[in-house]
Amino acid sequence: MKKSQIYATIKNMSNKLARKIKRKQEKSKLKQAKKELSNKIQNIHLPDICKNCKADFDKKSKEMAMTWMVVAKENRKHLICPECWEKIKKLTRSHETQEDQLDQHQIP
Ligand SMILES: [Zn+2]
Repeated sequence: MKKSQIYATIKNMSNKLARKIKRKQEKSKLKQAKKELSNKIQNIHLPDICKNCKADFDKKSKEMAMTWMVVAKENRKHLICPECWEKIKKLTRSHETQEDQLDQHQIP
């Protein structure tokens, strides 16, 4: 065998190997992509009860979809029904007004 022939054989072999490795990498990439996709779907998947009062959320109801709140916390999503949302809003609002009054009292 000539030297050039040997080189050609080696080159051919390494090409085949490279292709094999590439195919393997692509397969694992595909696997990873699928895994990520299923993770994303799980993240999209929402609970179907109110986090606060455990009221049922009807996924088919357009009205509910419009009025219920989604709260994202620590990569999780929670549903809050309009009633509980109002309560939470009132709580935070009254807290704010209390602070405002406190400020007014401090003025001499
Ligand atoms: Zn609720």
